[in-house]
Amino acid sequence: MKITFHGAAGGVTGSKHLIEAGGKQVLLDCGMFQGRRKEALDLNWGMSKDLSHVDAVILSHAHLDHCGLLPLLVKRGYKGKIYSTAATRDITEFILKDSASIQEQDFRWMQKEKISQAQPAEPLYEGDDVPPAMNLFREVPFAKPTSVWQNVMPGVRLKFYQAGHILGSAWMMLEFDGESGPERVAFSGDLGRFNTPLLKDPEYSNEECPVLLLESTYGNKEHKPREVAYEKLKQAIIRATDRKGKVVIPAFALGRTQELIYVLHQMHDAGSIPEIPIYVDSPLGINMTSVYRNYKDQYDLESRKDFPDPEDAPLVDERIRYTRTVRESMDLNDKRGPFIVIASSGMMEGGRIRHHLRNTISDEKNIILIIGFQAEHTLGRRLVENEPQVRLFNEWYDVRAEIVKLNEFSAHADAKELQAFADHMTGLRKVMLVHGEHEQATALRDRLLHGNDRLDVKIPQRGDTVEL
Ligand SMILES: [Zn+2]
Repeated sequence: MKITFHGAAGGVTGSKHLIEAGGKQVLLDCGMFQGRRKEALDLNWGMSKDLSHVDAVILSHAHLDHCGLLPLLVKRGYKGKIYSTAATRDITEFILKDSASIQEQDFRWMQKEKISQAQPAEPLYEGDDVPPAMNLFREVPFAKPTSVWQNVMPGVRLKFYQAGHILGSAWMMLEFDGESGPERVAFSGDLGRFNTPLLKDPEYSNEECPVLLLESTYGNKEHKPREVAYEKLKQAIIRATDRKGKVVIPAFALGRTQELIYVLHQMHDAGSIPEIPIYVDSPLGINMTSVYRNYKDQYDLESRKDFPDPEDAPLVDERIRYTRTVRESMDLNDKRGPFIVIASSGMMEGGRIRHHLRNTISDEKNIILIIGFQAEHTLGRRLVENEPQVRLFNEWYDVRAEIVKLNEFSAHADAKELQAFADHMTGLRKVMLVHGEHEQATALRDRLLHGNDRLDVKIPQRGDTVEL
């Protein structure tokens, strides 16, 4: 077996791993690189043409950094199938359409501003490139409870297990017919946490598997319990309401927004927060919420316990208002507090959140609530680091609003949970740590090796090939 790491190796975006075994080539994920514009564009355009000739693609989940280059792969001639869970397929379609339209807008803007960029001078793909990719999808059910292998093609079998990261997310085990018997490899995708609202907990498998590609995003961190974040959220809402201020929450449209809606709905029902309006101002967030509603059978038992009445579903609450049009969104600018507005993007680099920030950031009555990881060089990171002034739409604004940070809302397993995942794998010999920065990956490596001298742990870099 040969594994080549084409992305999310030595970093966290652009997830793409090629497995070659038994004469077959299978690509795990086909994600987009994100980050600094020029660098990300070069890496995305640089995706190897050889990848278009692989025999199959298997997708772990629908985040852009795992699925975002599928239309480009298909444009370059990929004709095989794309395997995923049903929810992942549905969410991917929205994510890719959204990504195509952002690229088209960006491209027009760069042309207008005469900003030079990587060749060729065109978007990676456009809206019309999405349907041909979607036509290649084939749905694969989760392996439990039947535990049946699904045939990907002759000589390659697959099992999906719940990853608990976002709706539809899976980790996978693959079995190839090798020259001297079956060869297995597992890929964690992004692993979630236990007791996340709505989502089922990550599953373990009792199948034997010697090789694991394991994510390491928070390989050096232990998260505090979610309840800590919920309490801080509650207190922030109460404070802002007393001051008649606005609570602005930048959130990724997929995953975090639904968790927030769920928690706020619960807090309303319990009477633990004041009855103030909540606006979800994100068309993509609204589409995502509708997909979540289509997959109620995927919800965990906890959410059925929290909302036992079938009339009172977790993501349906008349106090939560969804704004789709730009007009409705702009009306919020003139509306007096108190109210809560959730909008994307999560790192505040684009999207409607920037308009809300411009209108709220210089007034000390308001609260900006930061619930997601903020990468370097983003507006979100500058706020986390308490910079006194920030730039929005080419103007400087004083930061007078209260900045509240809630790191506990993470959708990724922490170091302890990642280790537990590896510990539950039967017959594990070799771990390759992917999807993590250097510091996080090395911390997790040391943790996994501690007291386990039979395990081999490697941190491959982009472009590396490992022969097993
Ligand atoms: Zn993810």
